[in-house]
Amino acid sequence: MLPSSSLPSSSSLILERPQNPLNQFSFEQTFRNICTLLLSLTHSRSLPKGLQLHAHIIKSGLQIIPLVSHHLINFYSKTQLPLLSRQIFHEAPIKSATTWSSVISSFAQNELPCLAIEYFRRMLGECALPDDHIFPSATKSCAILGRLDVGKSVHCLVVKTGYDFDVFVCSSLVDMYAKCGDIKTARKVFDEMPERNVVSWSGMIYGYAQLGVNEEALKLFKQALYDDLEVNDFTFSSVIHVCGTSTLLELGKQIHGLCVKTSFELSSFVGSSLVSLYSKCGLIDAAYLVFEEVPVRNLGMWNAMLIACAQHSHTNKAFNLFKEMEIRGIKPNFITFLCVLYACSHAGLVEKGQYYFELMKEHGIEPGSQHYASLVDLLGRAGKLQEAVSVINKMPIAPTESVWGALLTGCRIHGDTDLAAYAADRIFELDNVSSGLHVLLSNAYAAAGRWEDAAKARKMLRDRGVKKETGLSWVEEGNRVHTFAAGDRSHLRTEEIYQKLEELGEEMERAGYVADTSFVLREVDGEEKNQSIRYHSERLAIAFGMITFPPDRPIRVMKNLRVCGDCHTAIKFMSKCSGRVIIVRDNNRFHRFEDGKCSCGDYW
Ligand code: ZN
Ligand code: ZN
Repeated sequence: MLPSSSLPSSSSLILERPQNPLNQFSFEQTFRNICTLLLSLTHSRSLPKGLQLHAHIIKSGLQIIPLVSHHLINFYSKTQLPLLSRQIFHEAPIKSATTWSSVISSFAQNELPCLAIEYFRRMLGECALPDDHIFPSATKSCAILGRLDVGKSVHCLVVKTGYDFDVFVCSSLVDMYAKCGDIKTARKVFDEMPERNVVSWSGMIYGYAQLGVNEEALKLFKQALYDDLEVNDFTFSSVIHVCGTSTLLELGKQIHGLCVKTSFELSSFVGSSLVSLYSKCGLIDAAYLVFEEVPVRNLGMWNAMLIACAQHSHTNKAFNLFKEMEIRGIKPNFITFLCVLYACSHAGLVEKGQYYFELMKEHGIEPGSQHYASLVDLLGRAGKLQEAVSVINKMPIAPTESVWGALLTGCRIHGDTDLAAYAADRIFELDNVSSGLHVLLSNAYAAAGRWEDAAKARKMLRDRGVKKETGLSWVEEGNRVHTFAAGDRSHLRTEEIYQKLEELGEEMERAGYVADTSFVLREVDGEEKNQSIRYHSERLAIAFGMITFPPDRPIRVMKNLRVCGDCHTAIKFMSKCSGRVIIVRDNNRFHRFEDGKCSCGDYW
């Protein structure tokens, strides 16, 4: 957040509207120029220039014009400074429906749902009438807060003001009801809509997916294909996208079938979503097939395929695709480079990574902080810590948390405790430390013997009330998803699952497996350490797969966190002892375990 002193203040403002006609013209001209400039700065999200322009606007007295304050509110919304949006709003002498709308949307877009609802209420109190922009902001905020009660009263107001025929407003209602778990009302609003858009479709599919009723979602979608001409490739692509993010492979496959019947599978938008669906669900070969079959591919589709290759360690394939793009004259963008750098980083290919990093500049693309983080990660993992530091020192932009975090990871792997503590200090200097990093920081300080700082990092974590995300793993069986937490005993087949792990554990130990307990945080010790690590969620999920699926069927497990080092070793032994193929997707990449080896080559 910006300190308020860096903001132009409008308290000493005098509106100097010129009197003579010649100046009148220049006033109008200035006004128009300023609006255009502000819009373009909003589009490019250039904060420093925007602040300058804001100062200029105050000097020229233009900010009292409703259109200008509307643009300013939007500018601060897009640059993620919603509280500055609020300041502009309060300084505006005239608050039109548009002004209200832009400030409420600024809150809704910037994850301040409580403020969005509060201002929505205030607006009604001032007798201003909501419009088709305000309603979606309000319902979105209700959905985030899970406030079905408030959402329902917004719905009433929608009906009263006659917006119940507006496709955007109704779609946002469907989405709100679905996210708040009221699928019946969601469906009712959906059925009564005169036409539907991507938001309403995604909302319904998401709602059904949450309930685990894939059948219903599919029936609905089929129905739409018969009697609703509004279903187009964007609808398909967004519905498949929903399946991909929730890793609903079965539903996704069935929708793919519908795409083929309707010839939508040839669209590169649908193709991109299918590629990432199959890749996320572990079926890289199916992703390749889709990719090959689309005749005209857009850049998004190339990028989707590159990400898939990187995640599945098909590194050479990624490089070949990049070459193919060059031959076909398809201009890569910054995402393309991020994908190839990611591929290099996962395969530990330092020189190749440096090559692509330089190539980016040749293409006229300025490396962003993520590209730098990737390069530092690559060098750090390869043990070239000093080179990584010199890359950071030469960065033309301020290094972000992810850049220092990458260095910290490298230090941890290669045991450079001093440099790790140095990187941790730099992260501490940044204002907002994300939750995952506190543990890393604390461990880095502890390793360097700086116990007080280690305690400080832990305390910070507690003070901010940051909860560690619970590790969950899940397995899809037909149309059902079985979810497990560490040490979970809630599954119907718990006894058999633990029995299986017990048996397997003995076999693994005979094959040479020794549990490495250093991966567990230091609070847990001794026997307990051993216990909890043996029952990490992915192991329960794998054991469930072993007692459920036939031996020749690969066991596919999804996990929301990174697989820990000990589980990674253990799963290698599990694949060797059971003779099974085990595919684990964690939040970072894919691991295909077969005969005691993992496809990631231990880079993950
Ligand atoms: Zn683990
Ligand atoms: Zn692996």
